[in-house]
Amino acid sequence: MRESRPCLFFVVSESSQFPAATLAVVATPIGNLADISFRAIEILKAADVLLCEDTRHSKRLLDHYSIQVPTTSYGAHNLKTKLVWIVEQLALGKRVALVSDAGTPGISDPGTLLVSAALQAGYNVITIPGPAALIPALVLSGLRTDKFVFEGFLPHKKGRQTRLKLLATEPRTIVLYESVHRIQKTLSELHEYLGNRKVAVCRELTKVYEEIVRGNLSDAIAHFEKHEPRGEFVVVVAGTDDSSHDDSDESSF
Ligand code: SAM
Repeated sequence: MRESRPCLFFVVSESSQFPAATLAVVATPIGNLADISFRAIEILKAADVLLCEDTRHSKRLLDHYSIQVPTTSYGAHNLKTKLVWIVEQLALGKRVALVSDAGTPGISDPGTLLVSAALQAGYNVITIPGPAALIPALVLSGLRTDKFVFEGFLPHKKGRQTRLKLLATEPRTIVLYESVHRIQKTLSELHEYLGNRKVAVCRELTKVYEEIVRGNLSDAIAHFEKHEPRGEFVVVVAGTDDSSHDDSDESSF
């Protein structure tokens, strides 16, 4: 007779995996919908309410995995109200899940403030790890990965020059997020402040039009003068230590 065993889905969907009065920070794909963990799907299904950066954006993912839970949006426009609301939900014993438009909530998006609010109010926070655009970009860059610094988005105006001047002396590989609106300006300014460093401009990672432009900053600038930039970008720039990256230095890996 065949022994019947609980399948993986049964085990992970036990409510003990998502206790009551808990905020679950759930990483979701940065493009390819298949890049999500079994556990993330089960936690999303078990949530009493799901906080989304944009409910319309998350609907595609939820529909794809037949996840039917009440959703509500959070963002710069309603963050204060949502911070109060989330603590009220946790006080009622609700399982609250948090997703962003892409990747890991709290990495260069307003998710961080929701996590701090829950922690400050004394509630349990768990995370379901998964994609974040910086890691695939760093790995695909071909630059040093043993030490790197994640800068997120450069400030748009105030503090931008200061940041760029600091980055000019940064020994570690530098990872930056950038939008289509500023990619050309950012590449030009990186060239101006850091010199003609090695760079990898990673566009539309895990999506149909994924493209990695590798070379020096002047090559990347020339590329986007010829090809109109589209989509989302991660820029990975060599740090000042990059010249020391050679095969003989195996101890650093
Ligand atoms: N929380 C996200 C994460 O874990 O990576 C980042 C959110 S931030 C608001 C959005 C930025 O992430 C984009 O402007 C872009 O710089 C980067 N990004 C997100 N998805 C990307 C993708 N598929 N390809 C390249 N960059 C991406």
